[in-house]
Amino acid sequence: MQFSELAAYFERIENVSSRLEMTSILAELLAKAGAKEIRHIIYLSQGSLGPSHLAIEAGLGEGLIEQGIARAFGYSKEEVEKLYKETGDLGDVAKKLGDKKKQSSLFSEKLSIEKVFSNFKKISETEGKGSQDSKLKMFAELLNSASGTEAKFVARIPLGNMRLGIGDPTIMESLAVNYLGEFLKGKQTKKEIEATLKEKKEEKRKEEFWRKARQRLREIIEEKYNIYSDLGGIAENLKENGLKGLEGISIEPGVPIRPTLAERLPSSKEIIKKLGRCAVEAKYDGFRLQCHKNGNSIIIFSRQAENVTHMFPDLVNAINAQVKAKKMIFEGEALAYNEETGQYFPFQITIQRKRKYDIKKMSEDFPLKMFAFDIMYLEGKNCMEKPFKERRKLLAKAIGKGKIIELTKSIETGDAEKMEAFFLESIENGLEGIIAKDLSARYIAGARKYAWIKLKRSYKGELSDSADVTIIGYFKGRGKRTQFGLGGLLTAVYDEATDSFKSIAKIGTGMTEEILVELEKKLSKISQKEKPARVDSEIEPDSWVKPFYVIEVRADEITKSPMHTAGKTKGEPGFALRFPRMIKFREKKPEESTSVKEILAMYKNQGSIKLNETPG
Ligand code: ATP
Repeated sequence: MQFSELAAYFERIENVSSRLEMTSILAELLAKAGAKEIRHIIYLSQGSLGPSHLAIEAGLGEGLIEQGIARAFGYSKEEVEKLYKETGDLGDVAKKLGDKKKQSSLFSEKLSIEKVFSNFKKISETEGKGSQDSKLKMFAELLNSASGTEAKFVARIPLGNMRLGIGDPTIMESLAVNYLGEFLKGKQTKKEIEATLKEKKEEKRKEEFWRKARQRLREIIEEKYNIYSDLGGIAENLKENGLKGLEGISIEPGVPIRPTLAERLPSSKEIIKKLGRCAVEAKYDGFRLQCHKNGNSIIIFSRQAENVTHMFPDLVNAINAQVKAKKMIFEGEALAYNEETGQYFPFQITIQRKRKYDIKKMSEDFPLKMFAFDIMYLEGKNCMEKPFKERRKLLAKAIGKGKIIELTKSIETGDAEKMEAFFLESIENGLEGIIAKDLSARYIAGARKYAWIKLKRSYKGELSDSADVTIIGYFKGRGKRTQFGLGGLLTAVYDEATDSFKSIAKIGTGMTEEILVELEKKLSKISQKEKPARVDSEIEPDSWVKPFYVIEVRADEITKSPMHTAGKTKGEPGFALRFPRMIKFREKKPEESTSVKEILAMYKNQGSIKLNETPG
């Protein structure tokens, strides 16, 4: 496929305002793509050059991109900068100048997708002395052969943001659309879906059938994605082998597994009511790490599936020393530890270990302990289907004695009082609370189910939890805040059922002046006039932004609100956060924000769970 055709598809996607349309255009594009290029189309659609855990970056900053545009189209860097200030997007600048050039010259070469992708790969691999010049040259060459629309997307690739709003769920949905025909050839599948529709009215049945079938297939694709976080690879497999291709996708050391997530309940009593006899573990307040060992190769992934191995040389050594298995994937929570007092440092100190520089010194000043809590893969075998009780035994056997890696502190009980006592003991030890685990549950990758239930420390005698919300818009600063260009945020929670972001709060407090400046800088780059396709809000901010940044907020309570769309149904108002305040940025994908379902559960639990103030 020529790159011009891909760029035209991207432009169509950029201009639609409904997710349904976006999905159908993307499905059309993926159906047309050849087996060799579909992987690259998927990466490019998200502004990347590979699956996110490989973090392949072109390494062209804004300055070099401006220079490249200037060189390719015969302008000065200052002229490009000026246009950038006016439009706020280098892709739009490239399009404008590319279109002008089109009128005056013929292009030297037609660009194919492969050419664009492989050139960017080369750009990303160019390192060392003089590399900036070589990168710039290759980038300008690509632009030089590009038309206006092509140039727009060529310029956006190294920015890592194509401004299309295509998230992983939309890609999976589009793949499901394309393989629905094959899926329904299975007579059994058809029967099973039809059986669920018996209650429905005759005229609704057909529509419901297609919706359910697509949803079922999307779930099957997502199950694979949960254990193999590379949609490019999955799409290629589908293209080559049809749905049979999915069977070939399995856990592989080096490819992150999406983490299982915890539900909330307000008390030990309710947890016992839900789970009966269960495992209860201390909840450590550090950061979650997923460790992959494959012979001598060790890779550590963060909660967001970034490769953070280089940050933790002490842990890599510990894995080598303490894990006897040749191949293993396990998870745990890492905490900075004060060797002199034997106590754990608070989260604010622990998080400093996640850094790019001074790693050696920091690992000496703040050594880590890792509390292992689950195992997903051992010696070539997937353990995720085994019940938790068995996995815990495997984990205990697999981790040898040592100073750094230990198992989480844990008891097994069916008695709410014993659970409460363990909870209080954990709090006394400076930990966050407990996580109760269903002894018979499998490892449920990528989902929040009642296999894990968290119970957190109480603040001021009340239970407390914050919410993670996605920024979908902002309001101009007024009064004292005029100087910052930003006065408040419009935020949303994620609705899995419709893959959309539903408004829940306007936030104007909790931001320091530095944060206001940072927010303005970040948000103005991704702002737009039109409401983004996956956003559902009746409140109109001064500027919309593509769902990208997630922040943690606390609030006094969750109230019903006719203004907000989170949880809103035909007859019922939505939910709002009362007195919300920003705590910090979270390194999460927008789809990992608190969900509408969770807000509903938190609303029901209110009284016992309050979204309260952090101590101090
Ligand atoms: P999310 O549920 O999206 O991860 P979060 O990052 O705000 O949300 P919490 O919901 O507060 O985290 O708690 C879940 C997290 O607790 C896990 O992701 C893990 O990092 C941490 N954790 C600490 N101790 C344990 C434990 N014993 N078992 C499992 N997770 C633990």
